[in-house]
Amino acid sequence: MVARNQLIRLALFGAPVKHSKSPAIHAAFARQLGLDVSYEAIHTEAGQLRDALATFEKSGGTGANITLPLKREAMELAVSASDAVKLAEAANVLVREGEGRWTAHNTDGAGLLRDLAEAGWTVAGQRIAILGAGGATAGILGALLARQPASIRVFNRTGAKAEALARRHAGLADVRGFGLDAVAEQDEFDLVINATSLGHSGEVPEALKSLLRGQSLCQDLNYGLAAAPLAAWCAERAINYRDGLGMLVAQAAHSFRLWTRADPDAGPVLAALRAEEV
Ligand code: NDP
Repeated sequence: MVARNQLIRLALFGAPVKHSKSPAIHAAFARQLGLDVSYEAIHTEAGQLRDALATFEKSGGTGANITLPLKREAMELAVSASDAVKLAEAANVLVREGEGRWTAHNTDGAGLLRDLAEAGWTVAGQRIAILGAGGATAGILGALLARQPASIRVFNRTGAKAEALARRHAGLADVRGFGLDAVAEQDEFDLVINATSLGHSGEVPEALKSLLRGQSLCQDLNYGLAAAPLAAWCAERAINYRDGLGMLVAQAAHSFRLWTRADPDAGPVLAALRAEEV
């Protein structure tokens, strides 16, 4: 674990980063553990990560979160990458190992699994549908498959992306990718995960309305305002729904552990974030 009197310089790189909750979450972890942490959000456009990271390293930076559109760039500049990064082809965490040497990690899958477990929602043996095939789905798919669900079906507006993602994960378990026209032909799912960014436009994806049938549980990766339309739609139909805030805090706790080897308690930080929202 890092010494208590040593400043730990961390940062988030991406565009946009202005409204990110990560600085507040990591500040809360640092307070909880009595660590001296600075965590800044550094606006960085595509193609600029290598230079931005070098400047950050010169100022003493040792750990980074990476968000859109830099997750692939982060993987490519790292000297080594975890299995989760290789499967996702995207990294959301970098850890400095030596001068100019960063290792890449992806904590989205571990964060989702931790949050599902907190809720008592199981993955093993379940029939799972995921709507969306972007970076978030890439980050969670390997972790979900490792828990041996009965099957995972990925549906996406751009069907070829869902098919390619499923192909990359083939052999781990029963996983297939489809375009949205296949949604109507599906049987009921035990767990339906919304991994689209459509909530940001105030809409509930039509495909989700079809997928959420019978006893399906609904896990949204969105949180805050982007989660509001689906949360309300599920509440009206008494569908058991969870937003993505728990996953966000859980994946942040994994990042914090990688940087500091200290173990933050995500529970109180999640509760504080929720209290601010109401
Ligand atoms: P991407 O931009 O990589 O992917 C967006 C996905 O949404 C794609 O599958 C895209 O389909 C789909 N989509 C967007 N607009 C529409 C539309 N109008 N109709 C149908 N599908 C649409 O984003 P990410 O995968 O990184 O993130 C997805 C969501 O998950 C975001 O809202 C993000 O905030 C959230 N997230 C939450 C995390 C957490 O910790 N809780 C972690 C990571 C992400 P297409 O491929 O066809 O364009």
